[in-house]
Amino acid sequence: MSTYDLNGIGMTSQRTRDRLVQRLAKQGIENTDVLATLGSVPRHIFVDEALAHRAYEDSALPIGEGQTLSQPFVVGLMTQTLLNVPRQRVLEVGTGSGYQTAVLAGLVERVYSVERIESLQQRAAERLRALRLNNVRLHYGDGYLGWAEQAPFDAVLVTAAPREVPQALLDQLAVGGRLVVPVGESNVQELKVFDRTAEGLEVQTVEYVRFVPLLKGLRRS
Ligand code: SAH
Repeated sequence: MSTYDLNGIGMTSQRTRDRLVQRLAKQGIENTDVLATLGSVPRHIFVDEALAHRAYEDSALPIGEGQTLSQPFVVGLMTQTLLNVPRQRVLEVGTGSGYQTAVLAGLVERVYSVERIESLQQRAAERLRALRLNNVRLHYGDGYLGWAEQAPFDAVLVTAAPREVPQALLDQLAVGGRLVVPVGESNVQELKVFDRTAEGLEVQTVEYVRFVPLLKGLRRS
């Protein structure tokens, strides 16, 4: 698990962050480790400076290339759903800004994250380096394929929505592992949870959400 090195990164007042955490707790984020982490990751460094003043509102924000950083409530919900039991090796598909990656890094032993848009991947890598998160490995690649070299994972979190769950992600899930993924068309998706047991896969739907689509292939920019 990492702690966040905030040297030179600038701080928004702790009061502003505490207010966000209180609000998330009221809305149903119960896991106290997840709440504490959401209160300590500097979300303002993951968006453009022009949007930094909105970073501790509970809203989704644009991160460039037509992609968005989810609202903190959704990040909290996904994270607590993923980590309902302790899990140590986590794959994230869709690094985006790197914010969700940083949240996971504070809660688990090692985070692997894949992003298909090169410019976003590079910017996320810079931010995560600035926070000195040494338990994060990033990969510029197509997350449809997961990250076979690093598999199996105790947990897989997909932060963009495929129409159907990619088979590779199910294949790379360890027994006892959990995959959290929004599945569906562009306007609304079901947040699905797959648990791999010794007998096979169990699936449930926990919520309705709205994510950008999971696309195939790489984009260089
Ligand atoms: N977790 C991110 C959310 C970013 S939005 C954050 O905290 O900022 C979803 C991201 O998924 C986008 O950056 C998008 O480019 C990426 N994405 C979409 N399809 C992908 C794929 N096949 N492989 C890897 N990343 C993908």
